[in-house]
Amino acid sequence: MDKVQLPKGDMWAVHKFGGTCVGTSQRIKNVADIIINDDSERKLVVVSAMSKVTDMMYDLINKAQSRDDSYISALDAVLEKHQSTALDLLDGDDLAAFLSQLHHDINNLKAMLRAIYIAGHVTESFSDFVVGHGELWSAQMLSFVVRKNGLDCKWMDTREVLIVNPTSSNQVDPDFLESERRLEKWFSQNSSKIIIATGFIASTPKNIPTTLKRDGSDFSAAIMGALFRARQVTIWTDVDGVYSADPRKVSEAVILRTLSYQEAWEMSYFGANVLHPRTIIPVMRYDIPIVIRNIFNLSAPGTMICRPATEDEDGQRLEAPVKGFATIDNLALVNVEGTGMAGVPGTASAIFGAVKDVGANVIMISQASSEHSVCFAVPEKEVKAVAEALQSRFRQALDAGRLSQVAVIPNCSILAAVGQKMASTPGVSATLFNALAKANINVRAIAQGCSEYNITVVVKREDCIRALRAVHSRFYLSRTTIAMGIIGPGLIGGTLLDQLRDQAAVLKEEFNIDLRVMGITGSRSMLLSEVGIDLSRWRELLKEKGQVADLEKFTLHVHGNHFIPNTVLVDCTADSNVASFYHDWLRKGIHVITPNKKANSGPLDKYLKLRALQRQSYTHYFYEATVGAGLPIISTLRGLLETGDRILRIEGIFSGTLSYIFNNFTGTKAFSEVVAEAKEAGYTEPDPRDDLSGTDVARKVIILARESGLKLELSDIPVQSLVPEPLRASASAEEFMKQLPEFDKDLSRERQDAEESGEVLRYVGVVDAVNQKGNVELRRYSKDHPFAQLSGSDNIIAFTTTRYKEQPLIVRGPGAGAQVTAGGIFSDILRLASYLGAPS
Ligand code: ADP
Ligand code: ASP
Ligand code: MG
Repeated sequence: MDKVQLPKGDMWAVHKFGGTCVGTSQRIKNVADIIINDDSERKLVVVSAMSKVTDMMYDLINKAQSRDDSYISALDAVLEKHQSTALDLLDGDDLAAFLSQLHHDINNLKAMLRAIYIAGHVTESFSDFVVGHGELWSAQMLSFVVRKNGLDCKWMDTREVLIVNPTSSNQVDPDFLESERRLEKWFSQNSSKIIIATGFIASTPKNIPTTLKRDGSDFSAAIMGALFRARQVTIWTDVDGVYSADPRKVSEAVILRTLSYQEAWEMSYFGANVLHPRTIIPVMRYDIPIVIRNIFNLSAPGTMICRPATEDEDGQRLEAPVKGFATIDNLALVNVEGTGMAGVPGTASAIFGAVKDVGANVIMISQASSEHSVCFAVPEKEVKAVAEALQSRFRQALDAGRLSQVAVIPNCSILAAVGQKMASTPGVSATLFNALAKANINVRAIAQGCSEYNITVVVKREDCIRALRAVHSRFYLSRTTIAMGIIGPGLIGGTLLDQLRDQAAVLKEEFNIDLRVMGITGSRSMLLSEVGIDLSRWRELLKEKGQVADLEKFTLHVHGNHFIPNTVLVDCTADSNVASFYHDWLRKGIHVITPNKKANSGPLDKYLKLRALQRQSYTHYFYEATVGAGLPIISTLRGLLETGDRILRIEGIFSGTLSYIFNNFTGTKAFSEVVAEAKEAGYTEPDPRDDLSGTDVARKVIILARESGLKLELSDIPVQSLVPEPLRASASAEEFMKQLPEFDKDLSRERQDAEESGEVLRYVGVVDAVNQKGNVELRRYSKDHPFAQLSGSDNIIAFTTTRYKEQPLIVRGPGAGAQVTAGGIFSDILRLASYLGAPS
């Protein structure tokens, strides 16, 4: 017979179909169509076992080995799966030929499993032989289907061609020369334009069946690509390509159109299982591109992995420095520490020598440059042996104190950021660590490969997904996506929700700020959402889908369990119980925004603790709306203090209600009539005594006093109550209003006296910073004083400072009402977004 020379080069296209692609008979037909429609001159197709089959095969072995005789029925299930698939796909001689081979194989397997069952033990080569059958069957079925369509097609048992050497680290190294020789021989006897080859399986140089280890079919395809010097290797799977992060963990991951070989390698090494890490090496040698495509979505172009075209004509890099993120779970960190390590040659080699001796796989290494400590990550299941080996190897150094400890930190995960040259692009690592810090994630160790392709951080396992989402969203989402929980959807909270609803789209499109309300809770019911509540229907949803309110559950929901790294809780209540949680929330990395005065005007020690905590952490606490609603009072005060001005005095009309009452108390009506009018117009609390008592003003005074650095308690502020002494105990608001006229004459006289000296009465709060005190009282102001010029229910606040000494700095405007209060809260939310990195 003539020897047919194996043609190599561009005429070959290599396709690899993963397990899900050949999971059912219908899918196998579909694969055959793709092969037929590819108009390449020659095609080599690598197939995986039908999905789940390899797992089933491993399960057979485990069962037999542990003498569980259900392996027999499990083997029947394997037979049944392939038999019924073949019955769907094939007929006539093809079907008979396939079924006879299948039964022959199953009988052999039965005998082998029986032997394993008797021995209670399995060798690696036995196991490799058994598990590789899934590929043998899928390749044969597919080749029958392609041939049935009239095409020239042969199937290849790659155990005859692919020769690999085992290595110590549960991997195999292909012997390219020997494989090429065998391929040429195989082809000379099986020359064909279409070859359907088994993935995953191979032989040792001694012709003993082996495998390329789990998920190894991608590697098979790459080796084949290299052996044929193919034009391209297409890896067909069930996702549109390589995503910027595992799409099962980060729902907002995006498809990467291109990746360099190194980037793809790093992504897969660090856990992106869409591609087996070793796939890259063989194709890279010949510059063969790999394309990852979705068999279920042919319109998606997929991801191209190739040599990067990194520069355009101007020498500008076109691509983002950061491409993707991946994680590896179930790791432990080992930290070998001690002053005796510095400058001692051979310490690192002794450490890793000991690790190698127990056969553990070191995934990442980081060494402080002081040589004080060496820290590395190994799989959790290997750490015990590693620690013991190190303890015994360094016994003497530990006893002598040259090494202080060999510490194990369990339950860790690795998070890797991957991208060409990212590590050398200024700002990238800063952004990465910033995102982690802001999500309050503690980094246990850091490594940056000299290759500059990745930055690796070790975090606690429970933080891993949150960390992944935090960094991913920093680079791929809007820079400032914030999960919000709204507490108290009453008048103010409800208005805020409506304002958010109206503004959300603009914020997202124009300012890149993505605000998502993940929960709304009242005192009785709460509404939770995984992706963000539809604010156009929040009222109905809260009614229809609300569940029993539970603040702890609410907090957990808004802060945890989703992909948004920043959380803010907005407390729109006036409840001191809710306020008592702020400390805990801030400690957990939750930002807090509120118009609720209770925390800042409550006990001084608690307030100081709260502020101290907030200053030390990366979390923010904003409360502009506690004083003067939406007016910039706190921020003005902050601005003065931060730029080094000194506050001498703050004096103001802080109550919209009392502002209204005194602006209208001009002598034409009695005081009680003005109060009744105000009540009628809805300017007062249901019980006007709540306004007239001055407590609310006192709370604002204490907030400003503390903000100015005074350490005062609410009880240190003398308050002149406008509720006449005898009426304080009145049973109801009605009762009070009925009796109030009896006391009109006192205030009438006071007003009259003032008028006679050209003055008016105003109810004010004062912070006297010079004398470290504050008070709330009725004062007289000359008619040309700004406080005398007010109208309606405006607030006015005068700051007298070292810089604004002659003329105080005055802020004036509406200081009450749902719209402006909600507006004040909203602007705090935007302030938070800008602190988190929103563009200005
Ligand atoms: P196949 O059986 O086709 O080889 P795999 O299950 O091995 O398929 O790989 C595809 C899976 O890899 C996807 O379904 C996806 O869930 C997972 N995956 C993990 N990380 C990534 C990533 N960064 N991009 C795409 N897919 C990923
Ligand atoms: N079937 C093998 C496995 O599941 C190889 C592969 O599909 O890549 O591990
Ligand atoms: Mg795979």
